[in-house]
Amino acid sequence: MTKQGRPETKRIQLRIRGVVQGVGFRPFIYNLARHFDLTGWVLNDGDGVGVEIEGQKTAEFLLSLETKYPPLARIDDISINEIPLLHDADFTILASESNQVSTSIPPDSNVCPDCLAELFDSGSRYYRYPFLNCTHCGPRYTITQKLPYDRPNTSMASFQMCADCKSEYSDPTNRRFHAQPTACPVCGPKLSLAINKILQRIRAGEILAIKGLGGFHLLCDATNETAVQILRQRKNREEKPFAVMVANLASAVKFVRIDDSSATLLQSPKRPIVLLPRQNTESLAASIAPGLQWLGLLLPYTPIHYLLFHEAAGRPDGTDWLQQPQPLSLVMTSANPGGEPLVIDNDEAKQRLESIADTIVDHNRNILIRCDDTVMRVMNNQPSFIRRARSYVPQAIKLPHEIPPTLAVGAYLKNTICITRGDEAFVSQHIGDMDNAATLRFFEESIEHLLSTLAVTPERVAHDLHPDFHSSRYAKSLDIPSYAIQHHHAHLAAVAAEHHITEPAIGLALDGFGLGEENQAWGGELMLIEGPNYQRLGHLSTIKQAGGDVAAREPWRMAAAFLYKSGRADEIATRFKAQPVAKNIVQLFEKNINVPETSSCGRLFDTACGLLNIKPKASFEGQAPMLLEGMVTQTDVMQDGWQIIDGQLDFTPLLTRLINCDPIHGANLFHGTLIQALCEWSAAAAKSHKINTVLLNGGCFLNHVLASGVIQGLHTHGLKPYLPQQTPPNDGGISLGQAWIAGLSHKST
Ligand SMILES: [Zn+2]
Ligand SMILES: [Zn+2]
Repeated sequence: MTKQGRPETKRIQLRIRGVVQGVGFRPFIYNLARHFDLTGWVLNDGDGVGVEIEGQKTAEFLLSLETKYPPLARIDDISINEIPLLHDADFTILASESNQVSTSIPPDSNVCPDCLAELFDSGSRYYRYPFLNCTHCGPRYTITQKLPYDRPNTSMASFQMCADCKSEYSDPTNRRFHAQPTACPVCGPKLSLAINKILQRIRAGEILAIKGLGGFHLLCDATNETAVQILRQRKNREEKPFAVMVANLASAVKFVRIDDSSATLLQSPKRPIVLLPRQNTESLAASIAPGLQWLGLLLPYTPIHYLLFHEAAGRPDGTDWLQQPQPLSLVMTSANPGGEPLVIDNDEAKQRLESIADTIVDHNRNILIRCDDTVMRVMNNQPSFIRRARSYVPQAIKLPHEIPPTLAVGAYLKNTICITRGDEAFVSQHIGDMDNAATLRFFEESIEHLLSTLAVTPERVAHDLHPDFHSSRYAKSLDIPSYAIQHHHAHLAAVAAEHHITEPAIGLALDGFGLGEENQAWGGELMLIEGPNYQRLGHLSTIKQAGGDVAAREPWRMAAAFLYKSGRADEIATRFKAQPVAKNIVQLFEKNINVPETSSCGRLFDTACGLLNIKPKASFEGQAPMLLEGMVTQTDVMQDGWQIIDGQLDFTPLLTRLINCDPIHGANLFHGTLIQALCEWSAAAAKSHKINTVLLNGGCFLNHVLASGVIQGLHTHGLKPYLPQQTPPNDGGISLGQAWIAGLSHKST
């Protein structure tokens, strides 16, 4: 305050970092400055947003800045300096400076409420326009080539704005002020088929391929069993579950049970597919998720999706219908034929989807980088990932502290890559299983795209210990120090990194397969994690995996191995008479041909499934254990069901009991005993190392009963358990752990 009691005029220089470009930050700053009668300027540059404000109400401005910033923005850091007065005439938005780039592109977002109101307002010039968006919503990451985030650097560059769009774009009071992807029916992208025609074809039972935000979807009427079966046949996808899109929460509650956390997640602007316990799905096609207790649901997120529900509702005016139950439900699945990456290009769609879809609907706004739908579920009241992609990429995960710029290339299945910059880690979208040439190309594209949008030159590269993975070979071909990281160590380090656990911790990795030391197959590991190092404290007792990798899809083989080991080889052929190989499998064990030992927890689950005769031959990875989990009615414990010998946790008594057990009782007993044993095993290790933190990770933690049981059990032992929250527990999270370990390491491998 001055002597007269009037606030002093000040000039403040601000530097704002975080997700601040492409989210309406400059218009927000502009309007705020005008509101408080401040002069100065704002600009986007390679470091985020720079602002100078001058006037009497700079303090009020700063308070509003920190509390009222736009919904898609994320502020990581603001620096504030007072500088000499410059007496500018007004407040202006300056042109972007693009010399140096080190900020981030925001993720894609669903249509905002204001845009929805226009979409269904017959008086609006955006009425029923499938590509409307504004600074608070719309495509971002998937249409952006590089920073700074300005129209010429996006796939909207080729669309010339009409006079109306230009005037909205240049009006600081408009919601579309500097909305880079803004477009209207006059000047913007166009859909290749009218919405009413699309709906007619859906209702006629056709399979459609429709271009979305991060790629093409295949869709059909979710109530039409024939259509869903045709989709399965053509996509060559026997039983793996499909997700269903419904209009809103009121429509979802018909099919599934939804707690408050799941409802929030389902309706969040990120619009993930959310796995929910099904309750009454008779009106949906039976083959959507055969035999499973969980159904993946998602709500509309692009204007095209909304328009389909609007059309089905009879084109009501206004938005009231958006809250009411709607009968239309759609099977939505990624258009990724043959397990190859998602189709994003129009010509590519014609070639690759012709044999699957009856109709292909595209548009002329190019997708620059593919991004599948994100899949999540609520675990212990916390949202957790199953597949992390659209709307979450490229959101940074904060590391405990800065590490050298590192590239981590993931493993083999469900691959992702990770790039670090300072104390931030950027995990890519789901890339997929690295078993085909197209996915390998997508892997390299994703590395290039992320490196260029983040402007990072990596100094280290981390890869899996397995030397034959394409990702490992790629890493070693780069001309920078490389670090081979053991698979389960990486799983556990990923949890430590995101939860900022830097002190020694006990880790329990329960997984399918990862290469261990001395060429062993690991997957049920108890570790001590200390900085970049680990010590293997114990593991599940090993079991023979008859036929190698094939056993992961054929639980009966694991059961056969257990019977053989128990001296009951003579029962194998009769028990599994439906399996032609069953007659001869004993020879494999006797002659030790292709029967590698594994300590995998995934294979332990398969053994139980095989013994209980649940899906002896699975049609996709994890199917049998998912069915087993679905049978659990309560968890029962067989008190002497396990033994711990020299750090090895052995379940022979439990498995022996399962040989003659009915499936439901067996499922209850298996889960309950496993949980109790794992908790006692890790608690003993924690006690002897005087540690109370337990890191939990690995694909088996996708099992809801197991994960919540272990969390609860460890709490009763007075321990602090941690599950991953920012990456999935399966191999999609490996790259984060690899990067963190390599960043901490002193010596390359
Ligand atoms: Zn909007
Ligand atoms: Zn226009």
